[in-house]
Amino acid sequence: ATNTFVTKVSPAREADLQAVLDLVQQQRAFFAGGHTLDVSFRKGQLQKLLEAVRSHEQELIDAMYADFRKPAFETYTTEIGFVEKELQLVLKNVVRWARPKSVGETLLNFPARSYIYSQPYGVALIIGPWNYPLQLVLNPLIGALAAGNCAIVKPSELTPATSAVIARLIARTFDPRLVAVVEGGVPTTQHLLAQRFDYIFFTGSTQVGRVVMKAAAEHLTPVTLELGGKSPVIVAEDADLGLAARRIAWGKFMNAGQTCVAPDYLLVQEQVKDELIERLRIAIQEFYGDSPRHSPDFARIINDRHYQRLSSYLQDGMVRIGGQHDAESRFIAPTVLDQVSWQHPVMQDEIFGPILPVLTYTHLDEAIRQVNAREKPLALYFFSSDKWEQQQVLEQVHFGGGCINDTISHLINPRLPFGGVGESGVGSYHGQASFELFSNQKSVVHRGTWLDLPLRYPPYGNRLAFI
Ligand code: NAD
Repeated sequence: ATNTFVTKVSPAREADLQAVLDLVQQQRAFFAGGHTLDVSFRKGQLQKLLEAVRSHEQELIDAMYADFRKPAFETYTTEIGFVEKELQLVLKNVVRWARPKSVGETLLNFPARSYIYSQPYGVALIIGPWNYPLQLVLNPLIGALAAGNCAIVKPSELTPATSAVIARLIARTFDPRLVAVVEGGVPTTQHLLAQRFDYIFFTGSTQVGRVVMKAAAEHLTPVTLELGGKSPVIVAEDADLGLAARRIAWGKFMNAGQTCVAPDYLLVQEQVKDELIERLRIAIQEFYGDSPRHSPDFARIINDRHYQRLSSYLQDGMVRIGGQHDAESRFIAPTVLDQVSWQHPVMQDEIFGPILPVLTYTHLDEAIRQVNAREKPLALYFFSSDKWEQQQVLEQVHFGGGCINDTISHLINPRLPFGGVGESGVGSYHGQASFELFSNQKSVVHRGTWLDLPLRYPPYGNRLAFI
């Protein structure tokens, strides 16, 4: 079907309010028609999405390169391949997930069968950020479709080339009454948020997360908020420092640090700080060569506003590695900042760029206290070979998810629900967790009719005496 609701590409041109209203109404009517209840219909749609993603691979790679020079390899592994893997997992399992789940009985209900019945909510709104502009709208969409919902997708206006490809891809693949893209920026998102949806899935900043949750409260719409924050990486004195440096540099400088789960800052045991910084220098040199500006594997900063914000952080503390920058191409080299304190601007907000400030600690308790004194981060990474210390960090620190002796890789396993806690988010998704999130899990008791013990009915007489 041709999607007539794809609004125009230019971020300057916001979606027409009437078109948004009509679209929501049409999806609502389509959902009410029961078309999405059949799981084989859902599988057919997911299969079409898989084929569409494959056939738009080159367009997507080119669009992300145009938007912020995202390296093709990263676009494939962190966006296209990531979405394909999720689709394959869901296609394989959705029939099983969609079956009513039988739970045990209680004698008090005898005779009965009890089960949990998954039912789609209806029309979902999915709002995405720019930093992984494809997977952060398509992965929630996969969950929404698998669970039998209709969906409106609003990609970020800050990646206009990718947003346009997503709009085309969806329009070529789906009946707009099932899935449609609405492009635009803040005014468009506000139009959308003023409508009544049955589910809202938002990925973006904590600040906008609050706006979304307020709008959702108006209609008591359930929300998932995938937000950000300052995710620490803690390195203990007994860690394998060469390995830690490579794994930290990989997680930090991929996508030029514009990753929600990138290590934001380093908390390192003071005795190994200098050696770790030297190891980071080696890792950065191995990854991006002597001149990261000329590396094909290093992305650019998304826009001038973020470039200005990030380059001002270079005045905080002391640059130990990197520091080169160029406004014209919005390039900031992989940078390590030493002599940083919590008072510096770089430690006030989520960095979201290729700058790694280094703080130190003496005893692990102190590192734990420093992290817990702040908002709960989306991710936490701990490098250590001491099992007891690993346990202390897992038990005592609040964070959405993370790794011991690695960065980012908790996202790679779709069996691990992904999400934040506190200011870093509400709810979690991926794989089966996405299916469950987009389903109302109805609890149902199916009572037998062949027996009806009168014990619960009045008049109660002196039954209390027998309890
Ligand atoms: P953002 O919050 O500025 O924008 C996200 C979306 O909200 C965009 O589609 C935008 O059009 C819309 N929006 C912006 N301002 C709005 C407003 N006032 N009212 C209504 N809608 C509005 O986020 P961003 O800059 O695109 O992304 C970066 C942030 O996202 C970082 O904080 C990062 O940590 C977070 N993030 C989180 C995850 C996660 O999975 N938890 C993933 C990626 C990014």
